Amino acid sequence: MTIQAVPERASIPILDSDEVKRASERALATAAGLLEQIPSANHVLDAWDDVATVIEDAFGPISLLNSVHPDKDVRDACDVALVQESSFLTEVFQNEAFYQRVLGAAPKTMAERELRKHLLEAFEDSGVSLASEKRQRFREISERLTELGQEFAKNIRENATRVRFTLQECEGLPQSWLDRVPRDEDGNVVVGFDYPDYVPFLMNARDEQARRRYWSAYSNRGTPRNLEVLDEIVTLRKEIADLYGVPSFAHYVTKRNMVETPETVLRFLDDVRNVVTEAEIRDLAALEEIKGARIERWDASYYRERLRERRFAIDQEELRKYFPTKGVVEWMLDITSRLYGVRFERESVPVWHDDVIYLDVLDAASAVPIGGIYLDLYPRDGKYKHAAAWPVRGVSMRSGRKPISVLVTNFNRQGLTHDELETLLHEFGHVLHGVLSATHYLEHSGTSVERDFVEAPSQMYEEWASRTESLGLMRNHCSSCPVIDESLVKRLRSASKFGSGIDYGRQHLYAAFDMALSGEAPAPAMEVWKRMESATPMGTSRAPHSPGRSSTSPAATPPATTATCGPR
Ligand SMILES: [Zn+2]
Repeated sequence: MTIQAVPERASIPILDSDEVKRASERALATAAGLLEQIPSANHVLDAWDDVATVIEDAFGPISLLNSVHPDKDVRDACDVALVQESSFLTEVFQNEAFYQRVLGAAPKTMAERELRKHLLEAFEDSGVSLASEKRQRFREISERLTELGQEFAKNIRENATRVRFTLQECEGLPQSWLDRVPRDEDGNVVVGFDYPDYVPFLMNARDEQARRRYWSAYSNRGTPRNLEVLDEIVTLRKEIADLYGVPSFAHYVTKRNMVETPETVLRFLDDVRNVVTEAEIRDLAALEEIKGARIERWDASYYRERLRERRFAIDQEELRKYFPTKGVVEWMLDITSRLYGVRFERESVPVWHDDVIYLDVLDAASAVPIGGIYLDLYPRDGKYKHAAAWPVRGVSMRSGRKPISVLVTNFNRQGLTHDELETLLHEFGHVLHGVLSATHYLEHSGTSVERDFVEAPSQMYEEWASRTESLGLMRNHCSSCPVIDESLVKRLRSASKFGSGIDYGRQHLYAAFDMALSGEAPAPAMEVWKRMESATPMGTSRAPHSPGRSSTSPAATPPATTATCGPR
């Protein structure tokens, strides 16, 4: 009789700052030891899967805790550890002996071929073939870029600025918002940069000057320091391109994407520019008709909501009654179970904050464990401010490794708007991509796909926020909620579509700005931003540059209706 091992549940270790340091050092020492022992080219691919596992066991959790741990000491310790990881990986991929073994590997399967190709690209991109002084310089630049990226994120995440508004300035805000936000001794509302504070204000506050003041503070939340950080990043990236003898950083990056060349990206942006601009102008004209004046950046959300109310009878704040946060999460797990034949079981494991929920993911038919997910739904000080999915642990069918993904959002505790429902499903699409993937190697797991493909599954998953078939099941999880009928779904779809010209215009601007900063002779970021933003329909080409707008920081972009993918 054989004793079958009960598969151990993978969970995220909740480290304190000393443990972060120790876990990092231990993992890097173990990984270095494993790399030294790689016997021959025959085993190098499987051996790398083991090394990558050791590294991810430590740095998957560290990368997450860096953005969500309530204790600043832990977040800071994670910053240090992640720089060590980045330096270690650069050294690994500059290691001649390891390179020769990968080069000599004779892959037999598609997974092996892909992994070999992927590793050879990592060697090439880390400078293994560069002359030794260039190689050394590449190491320095990589390390510095990691630090700069961390500082950029930290300046936004840790910004504790509070903005005050009189009750008069808050006219138009729903009572539930007013009841929830803190007040000072004079009864003024005191708010920060969390979405549940900011987004409803921009959507509902009637007072234009108050909206403008909040918008301006929010747009500057990256602090002026982030502009310096960004300029240094841009300069160092250009230096990488120079080390490789390619014209721009965009050339260095796109060769690893499906798109292959910057020219293809720029041609695409040119092709869609006119369509997007026309749509944006059309949307703005509709909003200007309501306002009776020019629409400014701090007006767009407000008048868009007024138009949605008039044209589609959709009131986002009212929708929170239809989409109570807890019920919506249960509903989402329900539709996911139906779609993918999985089951979610809530289990008690250590978490980094009391709000966090953990669920086992099991195959519904066989009850075989697949992986685990964590949901960290509500804002708090020092927490990552946007919505994202962290692939903390990737699958490896080869080693039997079970995946873990973490959903991080900043929702209102009571209920969601339809926009937020889309965000939830979008990010959960990334979570599912992480836990339902079944790749042979860790390197290929979940969202580790080509960067310009990674959003596709999530973009599709968003659709369930706007379908009668899925929304009809909502009442199973909230019997007291109002019924979502065919007519409401229709109006939700139309309302959600209205304003897409403005959204796409904004996304086009971000993409074009990114390409400009990654170009052959990048100018200072703010200079580029002013020029490009001014040339958009909502920009300053229609009027002199206003002081409020000149402070628009590209480092602090307004929330998109659909959030971006996680940082790792
Ligand atoms: Zn995404």
